[in-house]
Amino acid sequence: MRAADIADQLSTVLVTEEEIQKKLLELAQRVDAEYEGKDLLLVGVLKGAVMVMADFARHLQRDITMDWMAVSSYGAGTKSSGVVQIRKDLDTDLHGKHVLIVEDIIDSGLTLSWLLENFQSRGAESIEVLALLRKPDAAKVVIDCRYVGFDIPNEFVVGYGLDYAERFRNLRDVAVLAPHVYS
Ligand code: 5GP
Ligand code: MG
Ligand code: MG
Repeated sequence: MRAADIADQLSTVLVTEEEIQKKLLELAQRVDAEYEGKDLLLVGVLKGAVMVMADFARHLQRDITMDWMAVSSYGAGTKSSGVVQIRKDLDTDLHGKHVLIVEDIIDSGLTLSWLLENFQSRGAESIEVLALLRKPDAAKVVIDCRYVGFDIPNEFVVGYGLDYAERFRNLRDVAVLAPHVYS
């Protein structure tokens, strides 16, 4: 699809590439300070968090380990089902680890609340959450997220890792999907 056709499928840009990078650098500086002297394991939630992980991890000035988990709660639609399924589990034993979960977006919060409980049961020493985006008006459960990039309105967004039916993940900005695409 050509650039003009892609633009036709988006309504507004909510967060630009520059704003994302500036925010991820700030968050990385906080994480550098707050985890000083501790081993840190970053756990990315596939596939949406791929871009956040790549850029956030490289803004850190310290060594980390990285692992990935794939869960699904959405399918190809735009509404959270609340049913979480593990598609790929961690390779790392969480026992005694300081874990920072790296997420693209907190929408209903259902996926993360499930993940937090799951990780606690595996004996992690500490578990915190970093999410690039959060939709406060969509929350069904309250998630204690220590590192939040941007609070956004309750609209379906794509880009910077976020997809609609696996498309738009490689957009550099975060944009609202035009309703005519899915309605
Ligand atoms: P939850 O509703 O459980 O908080 O969100 C679960 C997952 O659904 C998120 O991690 C994200 O991958 C996806 N998701 C939630 N809101 C959006 C959105 O506005 N756009 C896209 N593309 N994915 C979303
Ligand atoms: Mg996600
Ligand atoms: Mg998706």
